Amino acid sequence: MNIHEFQAKSLFAQYGIPVPFGKAVYSVDEAEQCAKEIKTDVVVIKAQIHAGGRGKAGGVKLAKDKKDVGKLAGEILGKVLVTHQTGPEGRCVRKLLVEEGININKELYLSLLVDRTYSRPVFITSLEGGMEIEEVAARTPEKVIKEYIDPSVGFQQFNGRNMAFKLGLEPDVIKQFVSMAGKLYRLFVDKGASLIEINPLVITKDNRLIALDAKVSFDDNSLFRHEDVKAFRDLDEEEELEIEASKHGLNYVKLNGNIGCMVNGAGLAMATMDVIKLAGSEPANFLDVGGGASKETVKHAFQILLADNNVKGVFVNIFGGIVRCERIAGGILEAAKEVKLTVPLVVRLDGTNAKEGLEMLRSSGLNLEVASNIWEGAQKIVKLVGGKK
Ligand code: GDP
Ligand code: MN
Repeated sequence: MNIHEFQAKSLFAQYGIPVPFGKAVYSVDEAEQCAKEIKTDVVVIKAQIHAGGRGKAGGVKLAKDKKDVGKLAGEILGKVLVTHQTGPEGRCVRKLLVEEGININKELYLSLLVDRTYSRPVFITSLEGGMEIEEVAARTPEKVIKEYIDPSVGFQQFNGRNMAFKLGLEPDVIKQFVSMAGKLYRLFVDKGASLIEINPLVITKDNRLIALDAKVSFDDNSLFRHEDVKAFRDLDEEEELEIEASKHGLNYVKLNGNIGCMVNGAGLAMATMDVIKLAGSEPANFLDVGGGASKETVKHAFQILLADNNVKGVFVNIFGGIVRCERIAGGILEAAKEVKLTVPLVVRLDGTNAKEGLEMLRSSGLNLEVASNIWEGAQKIVKLVGGKK
């Protein structure tokens, strides 16, 4: 789960990590009100959406004079912001963060995430902050510093000093850096985060270290034990169909292709997406209906697939192990009763009671094609939708 910058900064503040003074606002009036509480001359207005790259896209504005705050806030609020992370459809800005302006001397990069290969948390830091870290890593990998943390002992002061020395920070900044890294590590572990990213982490003209931006993502599987984190969830920022899917316990991720896939098991779902690409088209989603899918779940899954206007064909690829194929067939038939099937459907059922399932579908009069294996199924559906999107 992702949260907004202003929420991440409130967590930072709880852990004693320095952030600029500021507030989240929902209207131009509130923005002007908030500006009055700010002591600096310059006020920063930042669009709050779950996507980075706002600066370049016009979602971060500096008001040199407090009089301009209302006007600038009005320019961003309600606007659809298109950044390199939102996709071409962009995101509607519903909230702003109004903050004190900071006198920046240097912009650094600092993040903490889990390195799956080494099964350890790792800090990543660089003097090249502010811009996209991916670019820095691609062009000048030597400027990206990594510090692995042994999770059995946790963060140690020397971890912080290792990074600070490699960055070449000045002595009084080193102290602040080591302290900040320790606090970030504590937050990361306490709250079940999967990523904390500060870009830029700035050194001010008077040598203070401040988190100017804040991005925090959480491990969804740990949310049940963090009510405070769960309360940060903003459904406005989530895909409508994904919210609907999560209500029915489906693992669904919307993608940009045109072939809807209904599959059981994450591994088979990934393989199905690969094979659709190999056959010359793109999947419209990842969907794992799970091992113990009931007729009801399958029905909901099918409805969700068809609710996506990009879907020009559906490929059902089920291996019946725990789930029996006639249940899947039953679910598809139930769904077809409620939503009209207007796109081609290819079904591959294998495993437990596959014959019975296929027979049910065939005798239903539903317009569908059957495939006896995954490759044949993928080729059939790609042909039926006429190849690429
Ligand atoms: P992002 O583009 O979505 O990552 O948004 P950021 O929060 O990183 O802001 C983008 C850029 O705006 C930063 O790299 C800074 O250069 C600039 N910026 C943000 N806040 C301030 C501030 O208080 N003072 C100054 N001078 N620049 C700021
Ligand atoms: Mn940033």
